[in-house]
Amino acid sequence: MAESIETLGEFGLIDRIAKQTTTQQPTTLKGIGDDCAVLSQSEGMVKVVTTDLLLEGIHFDLTYCPLKHLGYKAVAVNLSDVCAMNAYPRQITVSIGVSGKFTLKAIDDLYDGIRLACQRYGVDLVGGDTTSSLTGLTISITAIGEQKPSRLAYRNGARPNDILCVSGDLGAAYAGLQLLEREKRVLKGNNSASPALDGYKYILERQLKPEPRPDIVDFLEKIDVVPTSMMDVSDGLSSELIHICSQSEVGCRLYEDRVPLHAETKALCAELNINPIVAALNGGEDYELLFSIRQEDYPKFQSQPGPEIYAIGYVCEKEKGRRMITTGGDEADLQAQGWRFFTN
Ligand code: ADP
Ligand code: MG
Repeated sequence: MAESIETLGEFGLIDRIAKQTTTQQPTTLKGIGDDCAVLSQSEGMVKVVTTDLLLEGIHFDLTYCPLKHLGYKAVAVNLSDVCAMNAYPRQITVSIGVSGKFTLKAIDDLYDGIRLACQRYGVDLVGGDTTSSLTGLTISITAIGEQKPSRLAYRNGARPNDILCVSGDLGAAYAGLQLLEREKRVLKGNNSASPALDGYKYILERQLKPEPRPDIVDFLEKIDVVPTSMMDVSDGLSSELIHICSQSEVGCRLYEDRVPLHAETKALCAELNINPIVAALNGGEDYELLFSIRQEDYPKFQSQPGPEIYAIGYVCEKEKGRRMITTGGDEADLQAQGWRFFTN
């Protein structure tokens, strides 16, 4: 029988996690091992803090999300929230509730993924909490970041005539999920079938291994642009645009044909008979950054080589509504879920 968490005990498990964890951030004065982590304050910076709670069966499904991927993704989505403030992620804490069905190997896998994301993004794991649960796995991650207060980007600063931008293609994570769910249904009745995932590497990665965009935060600093508003695309472009518009008390126009879509997203959507723009608008989990900038800042994006940024629309007065201009030239009201054609 594989070694269980029960035989190791809570302290044994924490010890194991602590031994395998190193820190690298200069602001981390004390990591795992005391009652609190101790973090120093960088000159002229403020801290940003964000938390996510993930429940097995609600936010993730272990039948097709390996634990290493889950650990990586849980960290990535938290770092994405820090980036969405235009801040730099520095530390995380990770709390887990684990039931007896998990082996030590399973927890090692989870933490391998957590550490991989930490290394990839130069973030320190500085603490957490460990408890047993009656069923399933619960993960809560808190991420801490920092930035100069004048560079923070909130959701409420978009102004009419600002340009709406997105940092990458959308709808791919949703397409990847549809693919995984299709294969899960196929495999249910047939143990010998191998999943037909060929040709869809990109959308699977977008679903299983999303990446936050601190490179965009870096680039914005390099070209001296502070977005007037920003958030990450976790729930789909449509609802994120609505959040920015309502918090900023503005309207917007989104051009359907400007929304970046990957070839694999289009291919899978064609197979499943879904309009790929629906995947982009309502799918979510892409973790790209959606932001608005002043028109006069736009040329700065061309001034230096850097990550691709896509201009997808513009901000307008609140009274003009929040609409998508379709490829055919019609206007459709954006909805938190789906969109409705604007008649007359
Ligand atoms: P306390 O009784 O004060 O909650 P714990 O025994 O839970 O202390 O934790 C001891 C140390 O280990 C603390 O520094 C805590 O942050 C850290 N820690 C506990 N669980 C985890 C975990 N799952 N991941 C990372 N660090 C953890
Ligand atoms: Mg504790």
